[in-house]
Amino acid sequence: MIPARTVSVVTPVYNEADTLERFYQRTRGALERCGLQGFELVFVDDGSTDATPRLIERFAAADPAVKSLTLSRNFGHHPAVFAGLAFASGEAVIILDADLQDPPELIPELLAAHWDGCELVFARRTDSQDAVVLKALKYAFRWLMRKISAIDFPHHVGVYSVMSRSLKELLLSMPERERYLVAMQLYLGFRVGFVDYARDRRQGGASKQDWGRLVRLGMNSLFAYSSLPLRCSMFAGFLCLLATVAALAYILYAKLVLKIAITGWASVMTAILGMGAIQLLSLWVIGEYVDRIFENTKGRPYFIVWKQAGRPGIDSARRTTAVRS
Ligand code: UDP
Ligand code: MG
Repeated sequence: MIPARTVSVVTPVYNEADTLERFYQRTRGALERCGLQGFELVFVDDGSTDATPRLIERFAAADPAVKSLTLSRNFGHHPAVFAGLAFASGEAVIILDADLQDPPELIPELLAAHWDGCELVFARRTDSQDAVVLKALKYAFRWLMRKISAIDFPHHVGVYSVMSRSLKELLLSMPERERYLVAMQLYLGFRVGFVDYARDRRQGGASKQDWGRLVRLGMNSLFAYSSLPLRCSMFAGFLCLLATVAALAYILYAKLVLKIAITGWASVMTAILGMGAIQLLSLWVIGEYVDRIFENTKGRPYFIVWKQAGRPGIDSARRTTAVRS
């Protein structure tokens, strides 16, 4: 039994005019069936160039449960989600993409698990519709993250989740720029629950998370949640040291015992090239961290809200700065 409480659904939207009407109807319907004291749908238009902004503003004008936010340009999926979180006021907050790959009809189950005592509940895909290569890469990435970071990454989860308001406030208070939502949610600890579901295909439009974006998200997560790559150069260094000692021992043995002088231009070149490669790779890894330190010290806003409910809002600008996103 779900107690009567307030719930916010945060949805990042970027050029989703094809599915938005259906998404709105289905999500509203699912929320109505929960018997809540109140709910809101927070739509964040992430600089869409199709009919999306007009649709959102139409929903907001006709339905007091809809909050519309417009970002000043396309910032990307995660910044749009964080903008929505900053403006969500429900006691429980759900994050749900607009493309209907994740069924809004799961909301009652997610809320039931949440109110059963799990601060954070993920919707877990039993059957994702990703291509085989992408599925394998995502699996390998999660496996790697589990091995090298302190976070126990579950497989087959994405942003579709419900969390308490206090957890959301904690998320917003984390000032870093490299944000990987699932990792940040898990980093906080608390009791985590799962609700299984079969993922649908996109119901319209095309995926905006192309390979470039996915690789960037993967690299960000790797470097933001583990310092192991920095230590790799140490391992490589030790390995080279061992090889050098062994080579030196052999050279001395050959010279003093076997009485043969090592000539070999090839062996010298191999050693130089090998060392050069390791040094350059180590520099690249350090560069990745320096780049992130640089990004963080700039302290630029993570997103900029241009309009709230269709109106330019100075308040929203202040709140954006307040959460230092
Ligand atoms: N999205 C966004 N800004 C972007 C890219 C995507 O707000 O720059 C939204 C998009 O409208 C959708 C959600 O984020 O609601 C997930 O995007 P998509 O379905 O393209 O990602 P995928 O499911 O393919 O990872
Ligand atoms: Mg999608």
